[in-house]
Amino acid sequence: MTATEVLGTRGGPRGRERARVVVLGGGYGGQLAAQSLARRTDAAVTLVNDGDRFVQRVRLHQLATGQPVEAPRFTDLLAGTGVRFVDDRVLGLDPVAHRVALRDGGSLDYDVVVLALGSHAAVPEHAYDVTTAAGAAELAARLDRGCRRLAVVGAGLTGLETATELAESHPATATTLVTAGALDDDLSAKGVAHVRRVVARLGIRVVEHAEVRAVHPGGLTLADGTEEAADVVVWTGGLVVPDLAARAGLAVDAHGRVLVDAALRSTSHPDVVAVGDVAAAVASNGDVVRMACATTIPAAQQGARTVAAVLAGREPGAFRYRYAIRCVSLGRRDGLVQVVHTDDRPRELVLTGRAAARVKEAIVRGTLWVQTHPRIPASA
Ligand SMILES: Cc1cc2nc3c(=O)[nH]c(=O)nc-3n(C[C@H](O)[C@H](O)[C@H](O)COP(=O)(O)OP(=O)(O)OC[C@H]3O[C@@H](n4cnc5c(N)ncnc54)[C@H](O)[C@@H]3O)c2cc1C
Repeated sequence: MTATEVLGTRGGPRGRERARVVVLGGGYGGQLAAQSLARRTDAAVTLVNDGDRFVQRVRLHQLATGQPVEAPRFTDLLAGTGVRFVDDRVLGLDPVAHRVALRDGGSLDYDVVVLALGSHAAVPEHAYDVTTAAGAAELAARLDRGCRRLAVVGAGLTGLETATELAESHPATATTLVTAGALDDDLSAKGVAHVRRVVARLGIRVVEHAEVRAVHPGGLTLADGTEEAADVVVWTGGLVVPDLAARAGLAVDAHGRVLVDAALRSTSHPDVVAVGDVAAAVASNGDVVRMACATTIPAAQQGARTVAAVLAGREPGAFRYRYAIRCVSLGRRDGLVQVVHTDDRPRELVLTGRAAARVKEAIVRGTLWVQTHPRIPASA
Protein backbone atom coordinates (compact mmCIF):
# COMPACT_ATOMS: atom_id res chain seq x y z
CA MET A 1 0.00 0.00 0.00
CA THR A 2 1.45 3.38 -0.92
CA ALA A 3 1.11 6.52 1.15
CA THR A 4 -1.01 8.00 -1.64
CA GLU A 5 -3.46 5.15 -1.25
CA VAL A 6 -3.43 5.59 2.50
CA LEU A 7 -4.19 9.28 2.08
CA GLY A 8 -6.89 8.44 -0.41
CA THR A 9 -8.55 6.01 1.98
CA ARG A 10 -8.36 8.41 4.91
CA GLY A 11 -9.36 11.59 3.19
CA GLY A 12 -6.44 14.03 3.19
CA PRO A 13 -6.28 16.28 0.15
CA ARG A 14 -9.18 14.55 -1.58
CA GLY A 15 -11.55 14.02 1.36
CA ARG A 16 -10.64 17.05 3.47
CA GLU A 17 -9.84 20.64 2.65
CA ARG A 18 -6.26 20.49 3.86
CA ALA A 19 -4.06 17.50 4.61
CA ARG A 20 -2.67 17.34 8.13
CA VAL A 21 1.07 16.82 8.46
CA VAL A 22 2.49 16.43 11.95
CA VAL A 23 6.26 16.66 12.41
CA LEU A 24 7.65 15.07 15.59
CA GLY A 25 10.89 16.60 16.87
CA GLY A 26 12.17 20.11 16.15
CA GLY A 27 15.87 19.47 15.63
CA TYR A 28 17.87 19.94 12.43
CA GLY A 29 15.62 17.46 10.63
CA GLY A 30 12.14 18.21 11.95
CA GLN A 31 12.29 22.01 12.08
CA LEU A 32 13.63 22.16 8.53
CA ALA A 33 11.09 19.63 7.22
CA ALA A 34 8.25 21.61 8.81
CA GLN A 35 9.51 24.88 7.29
CA SER A 36 9.91 23.28 3.86
CA LEU A 37 6.45 21.73 3.96
CA ALA A 38 4.73 24.94 5.01
CA ARG A 39 6.39 26.84 2.20
CA ARG A 40 5.85 24.25 -0.52
CA THR A 41 2.46 22.69 0.26
CA ASP A 42 -0.89 23.94 1.48
CA ALA A 43 -1.03 21.26 4.17
CA ALA A 44 -1.79 22.18 7.79
CA VAL A 45 1.65 21.58 9.31
CA THR A 46 2.16 21.09 13.06
CA LEU A 47 5.60 20.81 14.64
CA VAL A 48 5.83 19.18 18.08
CA ASN A 49 8.96 19.53 20.17
CA ASP A 50 9.76 18.93 23.79
CA GLY A 51 10.98 22.45 24.58
CA ASP A 52 10.23 25.82 22.99
CA ARG A 53 13.74 26.55 21.69
CA PHE A 54 15.77 25.13 18.82
CA VAL A 55 18.84 23.35 20.18
CA GLN A 56 22.00 23.70 18.11
CA ARG A 57 23.17 20.25 18.94
CA VAL A 58 26.41 20.60 16.99
CA ARG A 59 27.42 23.31 19.49
CA LEU A 60 26.62 21.41 22.69
CA HIS A 61 30.32 20.82 23.45
CA GLN A 62 30.65 24.62 23.39
CA LEU A 63 27.68 24.94 25.75
CA ALA A 64 29.46 22.48 28.06
CA THR A 65 32.33 24.96 28.40
CA GLY A 66 29.94 27.77 29.33
CA GLN A 67 30.12 29.54 25.94
CA PRO A 68 26.90 31.33 25.00
CA VAL A 69 25.05 29.40 22.28
CA GLU A 70 22.12 30.91 20.43
CA ALA A 71 18.87 28.98 20.99
CA PRO A 72 16.12 30.66 18.96
CA ARG A 73 12.48 30.22 19.91
CA PHE A 74 10.48 28.07 17.51
CA THR A 75 7.82 30.77 17.40
CA ASP A 76 10.46 33.13 15.96
CA LEU A 77 11.93 30.58 13.54
CA LEU A 78 8.46 29.69 12.31
CA ALA A 79 7.01 33.21 12.26
CA GLY A 80 5.07 33.83 9.07
CA THR A 81 5.28 30.25 7.85
CA GLY A 82 1.86 29.13 9.08
CA VAL A 83 3.39 26.16 10.95
CA ARG A 84 1.61 25.55 14.25
CA PHE A 85 4.09 24.88 17.05
CA VAL A 86 3.24 22.63 19.98
CA ASP A 87 5.63 22.55 22.94
CA ASP A 88 4.99 19.08 24.33
CA ARG A 89 6.54 15.67 24.63
CA VAL A 90 5.42 12.93 22.26
CA LEU A 91 4.60 9.81 24.25
CA GLY A 92 3.29 7.50 21.56
CA LEU A 93 2.34 7.00 17.95
CA ASP A 94 -0.59 4.94 16.73
CA PRO A 95 0.06 4.42 13.02
CA VAL A 96 -3.27 2.62 12.53
CA ALA A 97 -5.44 5.33 14.10
CA HIS A 98 -3.05 7.98 12.65
CA ARG A 99 -2.76 9.59 16.06
CA VAL A 100 0.07 11.02 18.17
CA ALA A 101 -0.27 10.96 21.97
CA LEU A 102 1.15 13.91 23.91
CA ARG A 103 2.33 14.22 27.52
CA ASP A 104 -0.29 16.85 28.35
CA GLY A 105 -2.95 14.21 27.70
CA GLY A 106 -3.96 15.56 24.29
CA SER A 107 -3.45 13.97 20.89
CA LEU A 108 -2.90 15.02 17.29
CA ASP A 109 -4.43 13.31 14.25
CA TYR A 110 -2.47 13.24 11.02
CA ASP A 111 -2.58 12.18 7.41
CA VAL A 112 1.22 12.02 7.17
CA VAL A 113 3.62 12.11 10.10
CA VAL A 114 7.32 13.00 9.88
CA LEU A 115 9.43 11.32 12.56
CA ALA A 116 12.50 13.38 13.51
CA LEU A 117 13.10 12.63 17.17
CA GLY A 118 16.90 12.45 16.93
CA SER A 119 19.17 10.41 19.18
CA HIS A 120 20.97 10.66 22.50
CA ALA A 121 23.91 8.94 24.16
CA ALA A 122 23.19 5.97 26.42
CA VAL A 123 24.96 7.58 29.36
CA PRO A 124 25.76 5.35 32.34
CA GLU A 125 25.18 6.46 35.91
CA HIS A 126 27.90 8.82 37.28
CA ALA A 127 28.76 10.10 33.77
CA TYR A 128 27.87 13.42 32.13
CA ASP A 129 26.24 13.86 28.72
CA VAL A 130 26.90 16.33 25.90
CA THR A 131 24.25 15.05 23.51
CA THR A 132 21.37 16.98 25.12
CA ALA A 133 21.19 20.65 26.05
CA ALA A 134 20.26 19.78 29.63
CA GLY A 135 23.24 17.40 29.89
CA ALA A 136 25.69 19.95 28.45
CA ALA A 137 24.41 22.68 30.81
CA GLU A 138 24.73 20.33 33.79
CA LEU A 139 28.30 19.50 32.77
CA ALA A 140 29.17 23.20 32.44
CA ALA A 141 27.83 23.83 35.96
CA ARG A 142 29.83 20.89 37.35
CA LEU A 143 33.06 22.06 35.68
CA ASP A 144 32.49 25.56 37.07
CA ARG A 145 32.73 24.10 40.54
CA GLY A 146 36.28 22.92 39.72
CA CYS A 147 37.65 19.67 38.32
CA ARG A 148 41.18 18.35 38.62
CA ARG A 149 40.82 15.27 36.42
CA LEU A 150 38.41 14.88 33.53
CA ALA A 151 37.86 11.76 31.40
CA VAL A 152 36.05 11.86 28.06
CA VAL A 153 34.91 8.45 26.86
CA GLY A 154 34.65 7.87 23.11
CA ALA A 155 36.86 9.30 20.37
CA GLY A 156 34.31 9.56 17.60
CA LEU A 157 33.85 13.05 16.20
CA THR A 158 31.72 14.13 19.20
CA GLY A 159 34.28 12.75 21.66
CA LEU A 160 37.18 14.47 19.88
CA GLU A 161 35.34 17.79 19.69
CA THR A 162 34.31 17.55 23.34
CA ALA A 163 37.75 16.57 24.70
CA THR A 164 39.57 19.33 22.78
CA GLU A 165 36.96 21.99 23.60
CA LEU A 166 37.02 21.15 27.31
CA ALA A 167 40.81 20.87 27.48
CA GLU A 168 41.24 24.22 25.72
CA SER A 169 38.85 26.04 28.05
CA HIS A 170 40.00 24.28 31.24
CA PRO A 171 43.82 24.21 30.85
CA ALA A 172 44.36 23.49 34.56
CA THR A 173 42.30 20.29 34.34
CA ALA A 174 44.09 17.05 33.42
CA THR A 175 42.06 15.66 30.52
CA THR A 176 42.12 12.03 29.38
CA LEU A 177 40.44 10.71 26.23
CA VAL A 178 39.52 7.03 26.52
CA THR A 179 38.52 5.07 23.44
CA ALA A 180 37.77 1.45 22.62
CA GLY A 181 39.36 1.97 19.22
CA ALA A 182 42.16 4.26 18.08
CA LEU A 183 42.27 7.92 17.07
CA ASP A 184 43.09 6.91 13.51
CA ASP A 185 40.05 4.68 13.08
CA ASP A 186 38.17 7.01 10.79
CA LEU A 187 40.70 9.52 9.49
CA SER A 188 43.45 9.68 6.87
CA ALA A 189 47.11 9.50 7.95
CA LYS A 190 47.44 13.29 7.56
CA GLY A 191 44.18 13.82 9.41
CA VAL A 192 45.12 11.67 12.37
CA ALA A 193 48.63 13.18 12.52
CA HIS A 194 47.04 16.60 12.90
CA VAL A 195 44.58 15.40 15.53
CA ARG A 196 47.42 13.82 17.52
CA ARG A 197 49.43 17.06 17.32
CA VAL A 198 46.51 19.14 18.62
CA VAL A 199 45.64 16.65 21.32
CA ALA A 200 49.27 16.68 22.50
CA ARG A 201 49.42 20.50 22.39
CA LEU A 202 46.31 20.68 24.57
CA GLY A 203 47.88 18.22 27.02
CA ILE A 204 45.23 15.53 26.53
CA ARG A 205 46.35 12.04 27.49
CA VAL A 206 44.94 9.43 25.10
CA VAL A 207 44.12 5.87 26.21
CA GLU A 208 43.37 3.77 23.12
CA HIS A 209 42.04 0.21 22.75
CA ALA A 210 40.44 0.48 26.18
CA GLU A 211 36.92 -0.76 26.83
CA VAL A 212 35.21 0.87 29.79
CA ARG A 213 33.71 -1.72 32.12
CA ALA A 214 32.24 0.66 34.71
CA VAL A 215 31.89 4.31 35.62
CA HIS A 216 31.92 5.17 39.32
CA PRO A 217 32.07 8.39 41.35
CA GLY A 218 35.90 8.24 41.36
CA GLY A 219 36.39 7.57 37.64
CA LEU A 220 36.47 4.56 35.33
CA THR A 221 37.28 0.89 35.51
CA LEU A 222 38.61 -0.51 32.22
CA ALA A 223 37.95 -4.03 30.96
CA ASP A 224 41.50 -5.12 31.92
CA GLY A 225 40.89 -3.92 35.50
CA THR A 226 42.88 -0.68 35.17
CA GLU A 227 41.46 2.23 37.16
CA GLU A 228 41.36 5.68 35.55
CA ALA A 229 40.77 8.26 38.27
CA ALA A 230 38.53 11.17 37.26
CA ASP A 231 36.40 13.71 39.10
CA VAL A 232 34.19 14.09 36.03
CA VAL A 233 33.48 11.52 33.31
CA VAL A 234 31.86 12.62 30.05
CA TRP A 235 30.26 9.87 27.98
CA THR A 236 30.02 10.43 24.21
CA GLY A 237 29.74 6.90 22.85
CA GLY A 238 26.83 4.67 21.89
CA LEU A 239 24.14 6.91 20.42
CA VAL A 240 20.64 5.43 20.70
CA VAL A 241 17.34 6.49 19.19
CA PRO A 242 14.03 6.83 21.08
CA ASP A 243 12.06 3.58 21.19
CA LEU A 244 8.87 5.30 20.02
CA ALA A 245 9.03 3.85 16.49
CA ALA A 246 9.62 0.31 17.74
CA ARG A 247 6.83 0.65 20.32
CA ALA A 248 4.51 1.89 17.58
CA GLY A 249 5.15 -1.30 15.60
CA LEU A 250 7.07 0.35 12.75
CA ALA A 251 9.71 -1.81 11.08
CA VAL A 252 13.04 -0.88 12.65
CA ASP A 253 16.63 -2.12 12.41
CA ALA A 254 18.63 -3.66 15.27
CA HIS A 255 19.32 -0.16 16.65
CA GLY A 256 15.67 0.90 16.59
CA ARG A 257 16.12 3.17 13.55
CA VAL A 258 13.11 3.30 11.24
CA LEU A 259 13.55 1.20 8.10
CA VAL A 260 12.76 3.46 5.17
CA ASP A 261 12.43 3.15 1.41
CA ALA A 262 14.41 5.29 -1.03
CA ALA A 263 11.99 8.19 -0.48
CA LEU A 264 12.38 7.92 3.34
CA ARG A 265 8.92 6.41 3.94
CA SER A 266 8.64 3.74 6.59
CA THR A 267 8.75 0.37 4.84
CA SER A 268 5.96 -0.91 7.09
CA HIS A 269 3.81 2.28 7.31
CA PRO A 270 4.29 4.47 4.22
CA ASP A 271 2.41 7.42 5.69
CA VAL A 272 5.25 7.74 8.19
CA VAL A 273 8.32 9.56 6.81
CA ALA A 274 11.48 9.39 8.92
CA VAL A 275 14.46 11.77 8.75
CA GLY A 276 17.65 12.37 10.69
CA ASP A 277 19.23 10.19 13.34
CA VAL A 278 16.01 8.22 13.86
CA ALA A 279 15.94 6.91 10.26
CA ALA A 280 17.98 4.08 8.75
CA ALA A 281 18.31 6.01 5.47
CA VAL A 282 20.74 4.52 3.00
CA ALA A 283 23.49 6.58 1.35
CA SER A 284 24.63 6.02 -2.23
CA ASN A 285 27.39 3.73 -0.93
CA GLY A 286 24.66 1.30 0.19
CA ASP A 287 25.30 1.80 3.92
CA VAL A 288 23.01 3.43 6.46
CA VAL A 289 24.02 7.09 6.69
CA ARG A 290 26.09 8.37 9.58
CA MET A 291 24.09 10.07 12.34
CA ALA A 292 25.08 13.63 11.49
CA CYS A 293 23.73 17.06 10.86
CA ALA A 294 25.41 16.77 7.48
CA THR A 295 23.17 13.86 6.52
CA THR A 296 20.07 15.05 8.41
CA ILE A 297 19.67 18.36 6.54
CA PRO A 298 19.48 16.80 3.05
CA ALA A 299 17.29 14.02 4.47
CA ALA A 300 14.88 16.63 5.88
CA GLN A 301 14.73 18.27 2.47
CA GLN A 302 14.04 14.90 0.83
CA GLY A 303 11.48 14.05 3.52
CA ALA A 304 9.62 17.30 2.74
CA ARG A 305 9.85 16.60 -1.00
CA THR A 306 8.43 13.14 -0.39
CA VAL A 307 5.47 14.43 1.64
CA ALA A 308 4.83 17.17 -0.94
CA ALA A 309 4.87 14.62 -3.76
CA VAL A 310 2.57 12.22 -1.92
CA LEU A 311 0.09 15.01 -1.12
CA ALA A 312 0.11 16.00 -4.78
CA GLY A 313 -0.50 12.40 -5.83
CA ARG A 314 2.95 12.03 -7.41
CA GLU A 315 5.53 9.31 -6.86
CA PRO A 316 8.32 10.80 -4.73
CA GLY A 317 11.96 10.82 -5.80
CA ALA A 318 14.81 9.09 -4.00
CA PHE A 319 17.20 10.30 -1.30
CA ARG A 320 20.67 10.42 -2.83
CA TYR A 321 23.43 11.15 -0.38
CA ARG A 322 27.11 11.26 -1.26
CA TYR A 323 29.70 12.13 1.34
CA ALA A 324 32.19 14.96 0.66
CA ILE A 325 33.91 16.13 3.85
CA ARG A 326 34.00 15.57 7.58
CA CYS A 327 34.51 18.68 9.68
CA VAL A 328 35.84 18.49 13.22
CA SER A 329 36.40 21.38 15.58
CA LEU A 330 39.48 20.94 17.80
CA GLY A 331 38.81 23.74 20.24
CA ARG A 332 37.94 27.23 19.00
CA ARG A 333 41.24 27.89 17.23
CA ASP A 334 41.92 24.63 15.42
CA GLY A 335 40.10 22.07 13.37
CA LEU A 336 40.25 19.41 10.73
CA VAL A 337 38.42 19.27 7.44
CA GLN A 338 38.86 15.72 6.22
CA VAL A 339 37.98 15.26 2.56
CA VAL A 340 36.36 11.87 1.97
CA HIS A 341 35.39 9.76 -1.01
CA THR A 342 31.67 9.74 -1.85
CA ASP A 343 31.40 6.49 0.14
CA ASP A 344 32.86 8.23 3.25
CA ARG A 345 36.36 6.67 3.09
CA PRO A 346 38.95 9.34 3.99
CA ARG A 347 41.21 10.74 1.27
CA GLU A 348 44.72 12.04 1.93
CA LEU A 349 43.41 15.57 1.59
CA VAL A 350 42.92 17.70 4.67
CA LEU A 351 42.64 21.30 5.76
CA THR A 352 43.91 21.98 9.27
CA GLY A 353 44.50 24.71 11.83
CA ARG A 354 42.72 28.07 11.94
CA ALA A 355 41.55 27.80 8.33
CA ALA A 356 39.77 24.54 9.17
CA ALA A 357 38.30 26.10 12.32
CA ARG A 358 36.91 28.94 10.19
CA VAL A 359 35.41 26.51 7.66
CA LYS A 360 33.82 24.49 10.45
CA GLU A 361 32.39 27.63 12.08
CA ALA A 362 30.93 28.76 8.74
CA ILE A 363 29.31 25.35 8.22
CA VAL A 364 27.85 25.33 11.73
CA ARG A 365 26.39 28.83 11.15
CA GLY A 366 24.97 27.49 7.90
CA THR A 367 23.14 24.70 9.73
CA LEU A 368 21.18 27.36 11.67
CA TRP A 369 20.72 29.67 8.66
CA VAL A 370 19.24 26.87 6.55
CA GLN A 371 16.56 26.34 9.19
CA THR A 372 14.81 29.49 7.97
CA HIS A 373 15.91 29.20 4.34
CA PRO A 374 14.70 25.78 3.24
CA ARG A 375 15.01 24.85 -0.40
CA ILE A 376 13.16 22.20 -2.31
CA PRO A 377 14.35 21.97 -5.91
CA ALA A 378 11.57 22.61 -8.40
CA SER A 379 12.10 19.15 -9.88
CA ALA A 380 10.88 17.57 -6.67
C1 LIG B 1 28.23 17.62 20.71
C2 LIG B 1 27.79 17.19 19.34
C3 LIG B 1 28.46 17.67 18.23
C4 LIG B 1 28.04 17.30 16.96
N1 LIG B 1 28.73 17.79 15.88
C5 LIG B 1 28.33 17.46 14.65
C6 LIG B 1 29.02 17.99 13.51
O1 LIG B 1 29.99 18.73 13.66
N2 LIG B 1 28.58 17.66 12.29
C7 LIG B 1 27.51 16.84 12.10
O2 LIG B 1 27.16 16.57 10.93
N3 LIG B 1 26.84 16.30 13.15
C8 LIG B 1 27.22 16.59 14.41
N4 LIG B 1 26.55 16.08 15.49
C9 LIG B 1 25.40 15.17 15.25
C10 LIG B 1 24.12 15.98 14.98
O3 LIG B 1 23.91 16.90 16.01
C11 LIG B 1 22.90 15.05 14.88
O4 LIG B 1 23.16 14.03 13.95
C12 LIG B 1 21.68 15.87 14.45
O5 LIG B 1 21.33 16.76 15.49
C13 LIG B 1 20.49 14.96 14.11
O6 LIG B 1 19.37 15.76 13.80
P1 LIG B 1 17.90 15.25 14.17
O7 LIG B 1 16.96 16.28 13.66
O8 LIG B 1 17.74 13.85 13.75
O9 LIG B 1 17.89 15.23 15.77
P2 LIG B 1 18.05 16.41 16.83
O10 LIG B 1 18.77 17.57 16.25
O11 LIG B 1 18.62 15.78 18.03
O12 LIG B 1 16.56 16.84 17.12
C14 LIG B 1 15.64 15.99 17.73
C15 LIG B 1 14.58 16.84 18.40
O13 LIG B 1 13.52 16.01 18.85
C16 LIG B 1 13.14 16.41 20.14
N5 LIG B 1 12.54 15.25 20.81
C17 LIG B 1 13.13 14.06 21.10
N6 LIG B 1 12.24 13.23 21.68
C18 LIG B 1 11.07 13.91 21.74
C19 LIG B 1 9.75 13.57 22.19
N7 LIG B 1 9.47 12.37 22.70
N8 LIG B 1 8.78 14.50 22.08
C20 LIG B 1 9.02 15.73 21.55
N9 LIG B 1 10.24 16.09 21.10
C21 LIG B 1 11.25 15.19 21.18
C22 LIG B 1 14.43 16.88 20.80
O14 LIG B 1 14.13 17.76 21.87
C23 LIG B 1 15.10 17.58 19.63
O15 LIG B 1 14.72 18.95 19.55
C24 LIG B 1 26.94 16.42 16.79
C25 LIG B 1 26.27 15.93 17.91
C26 LIG B 1 26.68 16.31 19.18
C27 LIG B 1 25.93 15.78 20.36
